[in-house]
Amino acid sequence: MKLQEKQMIHGFAVDRSRYVPELHSQAYELHHVQSGARLLYIQNDDDNKVFSISFRTTPSDSTGVPHICEHSTLCGSRKFPLKEPFVELVKGSLNTFLNAMTFPDKTMYPVASRNAADFKNLMDVYLDAVFFPNMIKDKQVLMQEGWHYHLDSADDELTYRGVVYNEMKRVFSSPDSQMERHVMDAL
Ligand SMILES: [Zn+2]
Repeated sequence: MKLQEKQMIHGFAVDRSRYVPELHSQAYELHHVQSGARLLYIQNDDDNKVFSISFRTTPSDSTGVPHICEHSTLCGSRKFPLKEPFVELVKGSLNTFLNAMTFPDKTMYPVASRNAADFKNLMDVYLDAVFFPNMIKDKQVLMQEGWHYHLDSADDELTYRGVVYNEMKRVFSSPDSQMERHVMDAL
């Protein structure tokens, strides 16, 4: 699809169009007029199509809320009210990449596929997940992914559990990651 500067398309305004020789691609910068969302569209002959939606998630403390929200976002949404749509997608899609990741300052939800129908479906699931997640209505999603108390029987010792909690326990058990984190904190 060729776009022209200043053109309007699906509520997006085309701000800039440039050819990028290193990528053999035409790059377009757009912005969504109503929401202010920015869009970078890179057009080329590669049949491995990639889509990623990203949000600035500047943390206000070290509780890991952006990471917990990243996981919780993929725990069912308005159109796909499954417990783990992500797991279902991994099993039944022709994707060449499918993930979500939280950085110190942003959260990304990328998908990729060489099959056009599969690609559109992956985008549909991810966009519904990030804009209409069930986590907003069901607070157990956040507890499951973040942390909660766990007790099998009254005599047991009370323990902490949680998907992201366990993931981070693994990450923080490595001396290398501890050191890197302290260096980042100091900077
Ligand atoms: Zn994670």
